Amino acid sequence: MGNFLIKDSISSIFTRNKPLWIAGPCSVESAEQITQIAISLKSYGADILRGGIWKPRTHPDSFEGVGQIGLQWLKEASITAGIPCATEVANAKHTELALKAGIDIFWIGARTTGNPFLVTEIAEALKGCKVSVMVKNPLNPDIELWLGAIERLSNADIDNICAIHRGFFCYQKSIYRNPPLWQIPVEIKRRRPDIPIICDPSHITGERTKVEEVSSEALALGFDGLMIEVHPCPEKALSDARQQITPEEFKHLMDSISIRKDMGFSQSSEESIAQIRASIDIVDQTLIETLAHRMELVESIGRLKAKENISVLQADRWNTVLSKIGKCAEKNNLDKNFVEKIFNLIHEESMERQIRQ
Ligand code: PEP
Ligand code: MN
Repeated sequence: MGNFLIKDSISSIFTRNKPLWIAGPCSVESAEQITQIAISLKSYGADILRGGIWKPRTHPDSFEGVGQIGLQWLKEASITAGIPCATEVANAKHTELALKAGIDIFWIGARTTGNPFLVTEIAEALKGCKVSVMVKNPLNPDIELWLGAIERLSNADIDNICAIHRGFFCYQKSIYRNPPLWQIPVEIKRRRPDIPIICDPSHITGERTKVEEVSSEALALGFDGLMIEVHPCPEKALSDARQQITPEEFKHLMDSISIRKDMGFSQSSEESIAQIRASIDIVDQTLIETLAHRMELVESIGRLKAKENISVLQADRWNTVLSKIGKCAEKNNLDKNFVEKIFNLIHEESMERQIRQ
């Protein structure tokens, strides 16, 4: 394949009007499995074949990947099918072996992105090589850690970098294995518009029946592509069995999503998107002006409290405000918890302003 550069492929997305499709099994399990899947994925129009060789597992008795031999299987499958291949590297040794085996694209997994020592080690092993690297978000929702890993690679003169959003570990019960917290990848896109961003709905959902809904959400948000786990027989997969889909389901997903995308981007839709965006901008401006007005009022009350020697925090008053805004949120069809979160932030800032009076 030689020097497949992800950015070239991404830039053609805008002309070809379809996302970048990365697909393949969670783990490479045998030469036959990866060859079979590579051939069907290529025939369905996937752009990149993925396959894990070294698997970071929670428990040591789980399947930890086939190891080095799998690099050869992956590369051969990629050549046979005529599709570039990608695998996860988690240290310098993996990186050197994968480079030697001619793997086209490397990705840094969520557990590795969170470890600056390992990222630096991988970046050094790749220094000077014209390869593409995809950086998954760290497990914890730390945007700086994610950006930092990207910077470490840029500092090693790797300029074909893309980000992969695979959701975040969460203590609370959630409908997803790794909730997407969309505001984080959206902020990455804002801060690094030069870095393409791919969504991995398989690791976000952890559940094959939900992969399609999250894929649609990601494309609606403007992600550049999708990385999806596909296995010839998902129930029998040695890792992540619940979230993998069959090649036929993948084909169906590609077809249904591109149909929606084509419909969504007709001329008239583009015009209405622009109109709605303009209205959103106005609402945002109004929100800021209203907040500024609230802070002015807060400062006046702060001055009065200071004069009368009354303490800034009165818990009863805050409880009354919270209960009022909760009712108001419900009346306006807004999620009460969401509104409470915003108001707690506003309250924090209001108290700080009062203390300064
Ligand atoms: C994977 O892609 O199979 C994987 C292990 O992903 P993550 O690093 O996102 O958990
Ligand atoms: Mn997996």
